[in-house]
Amino acid sequence: MNNCPRCKNRIDETDHYCRHCGKSLQPGRGFLFSHTGIILMALVLGPFALPFVWFSKLIGPAAKWIYTGILAVAGVYLIFLLYHSYMLMRDAVQVISGGFI
Ligand SMILES: [Zn+2]
Repeated sequence: MNNCPRCKNRIDETDHYCRHCGKSLQPGRGFLFSHTGIILMALVLGPFALPFVWFSKLIGPAAKWIYTGILAVAGVYLIFLLYHSYMLMRDAVQVISGGFI
């Protein structure tokens, strides 16, 4: 038998959450730290999902580097897209204004 680190009540070793105060007893092991959770977050948050990759205790070190690589490439691609759309906008403004800007 263990005790909850937050409320000191007795908890079972197999519990994922304290049944008294609800504290997660296995940090880095929730759904958001699973492969599915990380992939879903990467789709929504992009490179900001990286902390979850590195705090996760559910995925191996090789998978962490693969996710980091994918998110880094996605981040660079995002910056490239933003820059490209900025250049297109600038060209469009120049065409519309007859080149006076
Ligand atoms: Zn507790």
